[in-house]
Amino acid sequence: MAEWQKLLHDRGIRTLRQLVDKFGPEHFPDLPRLQAAVDNFEFRISPAMVDLIQEPGDPIWRQYMPDLQELEVIDGVVDSLNEDADSPVPNITHRYPDRVLFLVSPVCAAYCRFCTRRRKVGDPQKIPMAQLESAFRYLEQHVEIRDVILSGGDPLLLSDRRLSLILGRLRKIKHLEVIRIGSRIPCHLPERITPALCKVLAKHHPLYINTHFNHPAELTPAAVRALEMLADAGIPLGCQTVLLKGVNDDVEVMRELMQRLLTARVRPYYIFMCDNVAGVEHFKTNVEKGLEIILGLRGWISGLAVPHFVIDAPGGGGKIPLLPEYVESITESEVVLRNYRGERYVWTQPREEALVEAGAPESDYGSLPLFNNEVSLGRNNRSARSGNGNRKPTRRKRQ
Ligand code: SF4
Repeated sequence: MAEWQKLLHDRGIRTLRQLVDKFGPEHFPDLPRLQAAVDNFEFRISPAMVDLIQEPGDPIWRQYMPDLQELEVIDGVVDSLNEDADSPVPNITHRYPDRVLFLVSPVCAAYCRFCTRRRKVGDPQKIPMAQLESAFRYLEQHVEIRDVILSGGDPLLLSDRRLSLILGRLRKIKHLEVIRIGSRIPCHLPERITPALCKVLAKHHPLYINTHFNHPAELTPAAVRALEMLADAGIPLGCQTVLLKGVNDDVEVMRELMQRLLTARVRPYYIFMCDNVAGVEHFKTNVEKGLEIILGLRGWISGLAVPHFVIDAPGGGGKIPLLPEYVESITESEVVLRNYRGERYVWTQPREEALVEAGAPESDYGSLPLFNNEVSLGRNNRSARSGNGNRKPTRRKRQ
């Protein structure tokens, strides 16, 4: 057994009895019903996450502790993204034109109670490892697929040997250009990121890892070290974060998380709205909260640290980006904009008449943007600021 496997086995918490012993019975008054929640979805808290819990109900506790609210289903659905409908063979979801999701591991180091794939994760029967062959054949036959995303469960919980076999097989498929791995291991079990693992991964570039952090406290020194090892192996790192009530539904928390990720060489990629999954509804915020967070990030921290805010459309529509309202109005002559501080600015549209006045050659009409304070503000909006003072009509040079 590798050291990280032994650590997970010896120090992970995976029964209610262990929970009660560790945190005290007063926090778990209804054990029989809590057992029902655990029977619905696998339970395990990895050592790193156990160590991070400061008190009951804190943002780490909320992510991993089984909760009676999981039994109160209002309108959540089991397969909220309708992934199974887009699964042509076991373990493959093919929804977008040139990329597929390939489930290669049924297990995780810790089970997030908000997991979208909780219907499958934790149960080896539901992500059958014996059936990978049909998935490989599907990938080989579909030459339109350029990008494969390994997921699960957590692919980095596989042994080095198994991972090496899977990656080697994928790399033999000529039309597969990019391999991505979705993994929460750098957060959950940073000890798993070993030099040997990095060596295996580095053999299969271009390979990207999209990791998953939800709270700044998760960026422990060990997690940051694990991320550094992966980055040093030449692996571009991204992060997806799920917007969760009581965990990170706060602008300051998200700012700190995104900034610390960037410092740890991870590019924040997505903030997801929490999916409408049965048993997960108590984690949902409203959409306005996500928009407020994006408004609180864009302009206030580096653009590199601002992720896309998306809803994975219920029923399988794919990811839909959401943006706060930065465009106030658009007319033929101008666009009125709001900047990150809420101040209004005007961008002028390309104007043929003004080009005529400026003596521009006819061949340029209709194709060149013109920056002209008088033209843009004269008729429509003198209260808004224009970005370029009082210059005469000029043409922008072609790039
Ligand atoms: S690590 Fe990912 S797949 Fe595993 S339980 Fe958490 S969210 Fe689900």
